Amino acid sequence: MTSAAHGPCPAVGEDEAGGLLTIDLAALVANWRALAARVGSAETAAVVKADAYGIGIEQAVSALYGAGCRTFFVAHPVEGRRVRAAAPDAVIYVLNGLLPGTAAAYRAHDLRPVLGSLEEIEEWAAFCRAGAGRLPAALHVDTGMNRLGLRVEAAVQLAENTELLGAFTPSLVMSHLVSAEEPDDPINARQIAAFSHVRERFAGVLASLANSSGIFLPQAPHFDLVRPGYALYGGNPTPERANPMRPVVQLEARVIQLRWTPDGETVGYNGHWTAQGRRRIATLSVGYADGYLRTASGTNLKAGGEAVVAGVRCPFAGRISMDLITLDVSAVPEGAIQRGDKVTLIGNGLTIDEVGKRAGTIGYEILTSLGRRYHRRYLPATV
Ligand SMILES: *Cc1c(COP(=O)(O)O)cnc(C)c1O
Repeated sequence: MTSAAHGPCPAVGEDEAGGLLTIDLAALVANWRALAARVGSAETAAVVKADAYGIGIEQAVSALYGAGCRTFFVAHPVEGRRVRAAAPDAVIYVLNGLLPGTAAAYRAHDLRPVLGSLEEIEEWAAFCRAGAGRLPAALHVDTGMNRLGLRVEAAVQLAENTELLGAFTPSLVMSHLVSAEEPDDPINARQIAAFSHVRERFAGVLASLANSSGIFLPQAPHFDLVRPGYALYGGNPTPERANPMRPVVQLEARVIQLRWTPDGETVGYNGHWTAQGRRRIATLSVGYADGYLRTASGTNLKAGGEAVVAGVRCPFAGRISMDLITLDVSAVPEGAIQRGDKVTLIGNGLTIDEVGKRAGTIGYEILTSLGRRYHRRYLPATV
């Protein structure tokens, strides 16, 4: 049922796969509602770029639309086209903006570019003047990222340019926070002040600044619309505090072999983990080709990833291979684990934030790397 959405392979059956991914759409919807309750009268959009952070764009959009979400953000027009198919009357913004000559592709699926430079704005205006009509688009203002968007001075100048702005319909003015997950970073206050200054010049245009973590900043910079991504998918928007969101993703792997490794022998490529005493090793049918990052390999000197086996946390032993992970399950009672059992790689208290940290990265990268070889099971949004 999800084949087209997840690449060239056909939908993967449970008995054909090494890993089982369970995606809880009810938790996704609960997270969206919790954020919406928090921002009061501001609109809560959903950022569904990168296949909805790996969970499946069609399933995520259908569930969120069903809950009342009407505005979606993606990175590329091709993602926008997939959102359009799942939500025919939604508002869809494309964050990466307009590449030369692509305006017609936007219009074909009623997508709104997030225009990030004067060149892009002029190209959209020209396309509109040439007969497309006053199509809507967002304006991106850079308040500190130095990545995409007009500088503040340029945006203030643009606000006076009624001829250019009159050619299309500016429907949103937005900016993006540099360090929203670090509430003590003074750049937050500077960006909020700069953005407030700009949005005042664009009377009648909706304003948006906050991503997931931005929603939780003490200044509550919600403006008219918030743009959460990570928190919807269960990531912690407040890394210094307990996670207020519900987990959405669970990943299990099958045990394909159990073996005893004698004292002093090594496990895996290049022998980076040595058994200290006789150790029991479980070999799991998931590897870095499934998006489980190799940087979570475990050596004797540096702990790597973990899995939950019969309620016990067990460390990775040695390098993660392309299709396999070796796990030290010596702490698990001998009869409590067997060939074919499932062990948990994400879930059961192993959060995407922790998995990210153990791999030397962030939970965002864990989600967006989730593999295409897993059997995917979606728990419905409404039961
Ligand atoms: C990805 C993105 C978001 C969502 O950020 P999260 O931290 O995942 O909530 C919001 N706005 C922009 C411009 C983005 O690129």
